[in-house]
Amino acid sequence: MSTADELVSRLPRTLFIGGRWSDDPTPLDVTNPATGRSLTSIADASPEQGVAALDAAVAAQADWAATAPRDRAEILRRAYELVIERVDDFALTMTLEMGKPLAESRGEVTYGAEFLRWFSEEAVRIEGRYSTAPAGGGSRILTLKQPVGPVYAITPWNFPLAMATRKIGPALAAGCTIVIKPASQTPLTTMLFMTVLEEAGLPAGVANCITTSHSGSVSEAIISDPRLRKVTFTGSTEVGRKLLEQASGGILRTSMELGGNAPFVVLPSADLDKAVTGAVLAKMRNVGEACTAANRFIVHESLAEEFSSRLAERMGAMRVGDGTQDGVEVGPLINADAVTHVEELVQDAVDRGARVLTGGQRLSGGEYGEGTFVAPTVLGNVAPGSRCLHEEIFGPVAPIVSYSTIDEAVALANDTEFGLIAYVFGEQLTEALTVSERLETGMIGLNSGVVSNPAAPFGGVKASGLGREGSHEGIEEYLETKYIGLSLG
Ligand code: NAP
Repeated sequence: MSTADELVSRLPRTLFIGGRWSDDPTPLDVTNPATGRSLTSIADASPEQGVAALDAAVAAQADWAATAPRDRAEILRRAYELVIERVDDFALTMTLEMGKPLAESRGEVTYGAEFLRWFSEEAVRIEGRYSTAPAGGGSRILTLKQPVGPVYAITPWNFPLAMATRKIGPALAAGCTIVIKPASQTPLTTMLFMTVLEEAGLPAGVANCITTSHSGSVSEAIISDPRLRKVTFTGSTEVGRKLLEQASGGILRTSMELGGNAPFVVLPSADLDKAVTGAVLAKMRNVGEACTAANRFIVHESLAEEFSSRLAERMGAMRVGDGTQDGVEVGPLINADAVTHVEELVQDAVDRGARVLTGGQRLSGGEYGEGTFVAPTVLGNVAPGSRCLHEEIFGPVAPIVSYSTIDEAVALANDTEFGLIAYVFGEQLTEALTVSERLETGMIGLNSGVVSNPAAPFGGVKASGLGREGSHEGIEEYLETKYIGLSLG
């Protein structure tokens, strides 16, 4: 048996509800995108089973909220240590179900685990205040923070561990119980994480995990249940809009981490070495399948030619293949639809006059077999109106446009409904900071191609979402402020 087969045979395959793994049938296939072959099959929850998971979370809520913050923190800390101890299992599981190269999966395991450590530290720093009312006398204002209550979390397929821990970590730290529904394409990493929570000593029902091919009806049943108090979602803006509508019924607290269309602005003062290295990171992390992926390169006309040829050289030299193989830097896309979408965007840009500087096509046959691979692609002279400038590409394609004035660069960058992140490269600090302030996004990578950090507030504006994950802000999303008006008179 190969290491991969042996690992997959050990992974849980059913629903985790109330501290028990169910004995449901497992009809739902999970596929390896690098080979196109089935990895395993898992349980397919019905709406009733979704509500049963909420029953378990509701039953556990009062005791968990009353558990000492230090005890909640210790469980999260232990879970952090267990994930780090099992980095190899987590990384291989993730690569098999999602496709990213093993080195990147290891990076995500460390990043994902860090949310557990960070929120174990935040759990013991939930504070209120006591103050004298402005009118004085015996009037006092007392505030305290309490857990929101049972939470429903829905996560995407592109970061199977980190998107789960970024929600479960703060929810548990705050004293909330949770039901999580991972993406049906990458459920195994989250299911493996449930075994870690069990082993770390999390009481039954505090975290529950359901997998389903009926995301819409299962989620609707949970969200319309009056006992639920919060929905936290990471995924597409389209689904986010639907969930916000559903959540309005119960006036639920919501956190939405949605789509992006990140501009990467290269200012006239940019150091090209730094800008090209940052561009490769911002574009190629996770094969471009990241909400933070640079989607449009907006480069000053004085640097456009050299930037384009250097980026094409770097991206064209990247090794594409099965992420379990040594030396592979670029894995497959998640499925065949994703490949078709990327191809259509490239063709549309070419039809409007773009030049293909490297790549431009899918990779199939031979060593690529039935995998869903696309060659890293750089497009020069992309015309305004091209679809790739307005839609989330979610693949290894870098469209480049040039500009002449700073006002033009800012207008191009802000010309999108999205506002998650922008990248700015420039050595003139005043100019770079001024441009950063003018960009309509929740985050900026200033001379940096990666910003994700558990200690920093992650999130977007406009159609990219509501709320922040990570940092001190992250736990606030799971807390309500209660005010007690006190009279000493
Ligand atoms: P998606 O289609 O919106 O799916 C995300 C999750 O929602 C999956 O678990 C999916 O389940 C579930 N879902 C789908 N339809 C649903 C419905 N009607 N009701 C309830 N749940 C439903 O997005 P994706 O393709 O997985 O992920 C890519 C998107 O996520 C991109 O737009 C990306 O930018 C965004 N993203 C954002 C961030 C961020 O922090 N801002 C981070 C990562 C990704 P199934 O798997 O069963 O369809």
